Amino acid sequence: MDTDVEKKSFVLKGIGVSPGIVIGKAFLYDRFDAQVSFYKLRDKSLVNKEIKRFKAALKESEKQLLKVKNELFELAGREPMYIIDVHIMILKDKMFINHTVQYIRDMLINAEWALKMTIDRYREIFEKVEDEYLKSRVSDIHFVGQRVLRNLSGGRQEEVPKIDGKDIIIAIDLSPADTAQMMINKVQGFATDMGGKTSHTAIVARAVAIPAVVGLESITKLVRTNDDIIIDGAAGLVVVNPDPEMIKVYEDKQRHFQQAQEDYLRYAHLPALTVDDYKVEIGGNIEFIEEIPSAVSHGAEGIGLYRTEFIYINKEKLPTEEEHFSHYKSVVSAEGLQWATIRTFDLGGDKFYSDPKLAKEMNPQMGLRAIRFCLKEVELFKVQLRAIARASAFGKTRIMFPMISGIEELREAKKIFCEVKRDLRAQGIPVGEDIEIGIMIEVPSAVVIADELAKEVDFFSIGTNDLIQYALAIDRINERVTYLYEPLHPAVLRLIKQVIDIGHGAGIRVAMCGEMAGEPVYIMILLGLEIDELSMNPLAIPKVKKVIRGSTLKESKELLEKVMAFSSASEIREFVNNYMRTRFPDEFQLSEQ
Ligand code: PEP
Ligand code: MG
Repeated sequence: MDTDVEKKSFVLKGIGVSPGIVIGKAFLYDRFDAQVSFYKLRDKSLVNKEIKRFKAALKESEKQLLKVKNELFELAGREPMYIIDVHIMILKDKMFINHTVQYIRDMLINAEWALKMTIDRYREIFEKVEDEYLKSRVSDIHFVGQRVLRNLSGGRQEEVPKIDGKDIIIAIDLSPADTAQMMINKVQGFATDMGGKTSHTAIVARAVAIPAVVGLESITKLVRTNDDIIIDGAAGLVVVNPDPEMIKVYEDKQRHFQQAQEDYLRYAHLPALTVDDYKVEIGGNIEFIEEIPSAVSHGAEGIGLYRTEFIYINKEKLPTEEEHFSHYKSVVSAEGLQWATIRTFDLGGDKFYSDPKLAKEMNPQMGLRAIRFCLKEVELFKVQLRAIARASAFGKTRIMFPMISGIEELREAKKIFCEVKRDLRAQGIPVGEDIEIGIMIEVPSAVVIADELAKEVDFFSIGTNDLIQYALAIDRINERVTYLYEPLHPAVLRLIKQVIDIGHGAGIRVAMCGEMAGEPVYIMILLGLEIDELSMNPLAIPKVKKVIRGSTLKESKELLEKVMAFSSASEIREFVNNYMRTRFPDEFQLSEQ
């Protein structure tokens, strides 16, 4: 057995997604195990009771799935029902049942444990299959297994465990909902096998200032609960079992990081104005209304992106119109903020509400998400639109539709919003007179037809997270292709330039609210493009303001011209990194780019 003395020190390199340094103890979190207890049966007389319990959970699971199937049929027709049928078939599969029963009998273990063993056995078999499609179907077994497990343990919801304040979560993957829960449970940091820089899990980690490294591929196999761990969220490093010297180095780094954050705060409330007087509007991106004070204290002038889908996440029931309304009212009327851009919900992709209507899709990033989902579920959409329209009477409101890929979607969304406003007014309910309507530009087709779209909206907001994903064909949550995710790819820069030029030609404002907007290294390029508004994680605002205030528009345009002349992403990256490092030596140290 290992003792502390024998523990070997090593460093793992992943993708740093949320800066900061934490030093603490590892807690290996397996979402699957977290909700169930495994135990041995006291004696053989309990075997039959255990088998009965297992079969009752199977029956209950089948009942639930049939209910889901009926609801799905009413909503979406026959096709999605097949997925449910497959799940019911797994539940009834003789081998699935017999193996579990056999494990209970032979090993005298509880039903949860036996079921987990059956699932692991299936997983092993599927992992050996060559066919990629079949291999991926193991998720169906996992899904069914989890349902039965939940029913066995009384239908408890899965949740990130409450752990000691100094712990760092190590997991295969975490959902945005898990990350939100971590904020509540005061987790210090996390490191995962999977994930990319612009996954929503990463975005939430940055928003709640939990240092995090993702895409480590096998950290869950290399680290055990209680190992000493250091997370360096800016450099993307995880140090496991550090020696005392290493701990000292990182304690110094930690102090330096905190000091730098405090220094940047001096810029928070200064205007984002270049030396030659070019003014950029600065917005904060928020996922929860609890982040409003942070947006204000870090210097946001308004909210440039409220990701309202987070109202749905971690909920068992759909939020009511009143719940929506109270959130939107607090955002639009927040003291210290001049405006709020409320994005209608973008569920799907890597953000899931536990509602079965959002059935798992093979390719969720390109599936029924965001505006597509809203236009299919009009009644659900209207609940949110009514709440936004009502809130608009309390402060400057901008509404924004996500994932617009064609003009029909925009027209349809606007039409529904108009109807909602008309109905409210007919009922004597006040609605703001000057709600601005905008769209996110995050699908390449929207860039191509930006001239047409510009005629029908008040503003564009460029969502680089998705725009890059779709333009370069890189799944934003897949750690294996993260190396290709490059905002400085000439194709991406040309797309952004096109949107801004077309928007300005049509006389509308162009904002950016993807992660690119909050990365200081890109700021001069965006200034050179004459972006009107940058919206970002509030914690990023002070440093971005410092860079803006140290730049001129003239110099930014010259930089842009040079950048646009390169033909490859690597040349641009090298040039821009060197330029910014020379220009702002304190802000751009090697590990921060
Ligand atoms: C984006 O795609 O850039 C964006 C801001 O939206 P989200 O990250 O929520 O998809
Ligand atoms: Mg997006």
